[in-house]
Amino acid sequence: MIRIAIVGGGISGLAAAFELEQQRRSGVEVEYVLYESSPRPGGVLRTEHIDGCVVEAGPDSFVSEKPWAADLCRALGIGDQLIGSNDADRKTYILTRGRLVEMPDGLMFMVPTKILPTGLSSLFSWKTKVRMAQELYHPPRVAEQDESVAAFVERHYGTELVDRLADPLLSGVYGGEAANLSVRAVLPRFAEMERAHGSLGRAMLAARKKMKGSRKSVPPLFTSLRNGMQSLAATIVSRLMPTSLLTNIAVQSVRAEAGRWVVSAGSNSSHFDRVIIALPARAAAEVLQNASRELAAELAAIQYTSSITIGLGYDREVRQSLPPGFGFLVPRNEGKLLLAATFVHNKFPQRAPENRALLRCFFAGSNAEKVWPLSDNQIVGIVRKELQEIVGLRAEPLFARVYKWKSAMAQYGVGHLDRIDRIERLRQQLPGLALAGNAYRGIGVPDCVRSGRDAAKGMMKS
Ligand SMILES: Cc1cc2nc3c(=O)[nH]c(=O)nc-3n(C[C@H](O)[C@H](O)[C@H](O)COP(=O)(O)OP(=O)(O)OC[C@H]3O[C@@H](n4cnc5c(N)ncnc54)[C@H](O)[C@@H]3O)c2cc1C
Repeated sequence: MIRIAIVGGGISGLAAAFELEQQRRSGVEVEYVLYESSPRPGGVLRTEHIDGCVVEAGPDSFVSEKPWAADLCRALGIGDQLIGSNDADRKTYILTRGRLVEMPDGLMFMVPTKILPTGLSSLFSWKTKVRMAQELYHPPRVAEQDESVAAFVERHYGTELVDRLADPLLSGVYGGEAANLSVRAVLPRFAEMERAHGSLGRAMLAARKKMKGSRKSVPPLFTSLRNGMQSLAATIVSRLMPTSLLTNIAVQSVRAEAGRWVVSAGSNSSHFDRVIIALPARAAAEVLQNASRELAAELAAIQYTSSITIGLGYDREVRQSLPPGFGFLVPRNEGKLLLAATFVHNKFPQRAPENRALLRCFFAGSNAEKVWPLSDNQIVGIVRKELQEIVGLRAEPLFARVYKWKSAMAQYGVGHLDRIDRIERLRQQLPGLALAGNAYRGIGVPDCVRSGRDAAKGMMKS
């Protein structure tokens, strides 16, 4: 019988536990224990049901392009609960000099692929539009070193595109700034496009042409679950052996001893053959201090930012008065604290009854730190003031919820992938130890699912 400990019950740890549970059910001699410090497994996956609305406190969906989270839902038997974003009404606005400007059609992430809509858009100055045309002649380039997303995008399109698009788009995903994020870790496809094609515009056009020829139906951009993201965590929990799940127990240390692993939590220590650490990097560094100081130091160097989401419910009149589309992003130089707002009732119509508007507002990074010490009421006050300035929304919300996430979003800084290689080498010196979570090769839910699943599969091979 192989005994495996999983430390951390967010989606990464739960995905690892489910993989082990499946192996156990198929007859493999494996026993696992999952330690979770809070009373509720799921980590940042948290959903509240308020006034008929499905309010997401943490992630609200995941990109459909990465299959691992949807595959997990199907393996759990909740594939019928998957819902796609309402892409027919997909429109995103960027606040530009105080006005909401629609992102032009054909913009793939930040790369223009349609001349007319981009040329006519008031989102960009003429200088940037000329840069976009010139970019089509960018020569292939093999970068010797990693660089920031801001430096990379600036080389292709200039600073305006960094400020108006790259930075707000990435802040919405990583809660960090384009100037600090690694292009190789965060936009590996773009770095590869530059190497192979030179121009990102030409590379995207070539990719679009291929897609058109393939006749495959295009899936919705985002996928979620009808009853909210927490239902994914709850379903996994319901499939695990109840005795395998230890909640309210924080692990203090994990160390190797005589070829086995000792997991210490509270006054208890238990022995295992293998351990999966599925924690945010800083917490992983703390528990691994006695296993390898070098590994702990590398883990501790991965930075995290904090974020705050605010769920606001309104009545039918507000729903009718808001612009169509998925919501808006706010570039830093617009002088607001809000970073983004999603019109959830449009993005996922199943999330709110027809007589309700559901908004999800987002603060991240330094802006989240600024409002962090304020009370929930004060934070809602700031959100309402900025919503009034941006979309003219004066109405009193029917409900408002504030969710604070301290140091929950990993920042893949310049050189991140080199650090991950060093971490991997140090980990290999500790047989029977695996790492999973959002610190390594993908911050989104699908990547976390994959990291947990692969860590568990790896344990059964080693
Ligand atoms: C506000 C927000 C919005 C997001 N939006 C999206 C989105 O829309 N789409 C998307 O794909 N991704 C999104 N993400 C990212 C994604 O949700 C996370 O990266 C992912 O869920 C992290 O899962 P995890 O299991 O690695 O970590 P976590 O969810 O952080 O789980 C770690 C767990 O470890 C536990 N723990 C900590 N220390 C100990 C200890 N010593 N002993 C035992 N247990 C411990 C914690 O209590 C926690 O439950 C968002 C993240 C945030 C914060």
